[in-house]
Amino acid sequence: MLCEACKKEPAAVHLTTASRPDVASERTFHFCEACAKAIVPLMPELPPQLLCLSDLYRSKLYDALQSNHPEAFYTGDDPKLRRKAMNAMEIFLREQLRKEKIDIGDFAFQMLLHDFSFSRHFYERRDLYHRMHPRIAEL
Ligand SMILES: [Zn+2]
Repeated sequence: MLCEACKKEPAAVHLTTASRPDVASERTFHFCEACAKAIVPLMPELPPQLLCLSDLYRSKLYDALQSNHPEAFYTGDDPKLRRKAMNAMEIFLREQLRKEKIDIGDFAFQMLLHDFSFSRHFYERRDLYHRMHPRIAEL
């Protein structure tokens, strides 16, 4: 089974969200070790379905991210550059929300960040970007 975040490495970490009476179905996440390290601190009880960006707004953000922070599209194996990519996405999203005067708590922010960083649209966008800029992978 492949890691569901990067869709590249085999999944080595399997996490099941705590089932609670108000949650209809629990969900198991499968990540490779590198992704788990980046994601797990973000998911105390992770209900990512609770809050997410709209497709339209998310795609506007990816446009801006692509022109201003191409390092966020890094897909190689260097853990430092991976962390740099994650940080770039977080800082970028914080800045954008501040610009829009959207003031949200930290937990809500983590949910939006999760949606922003791990949506299927991000991976589609990143793959497309690499097809158009084959050398970015070596940055
Ligand atoms: Zn992964």
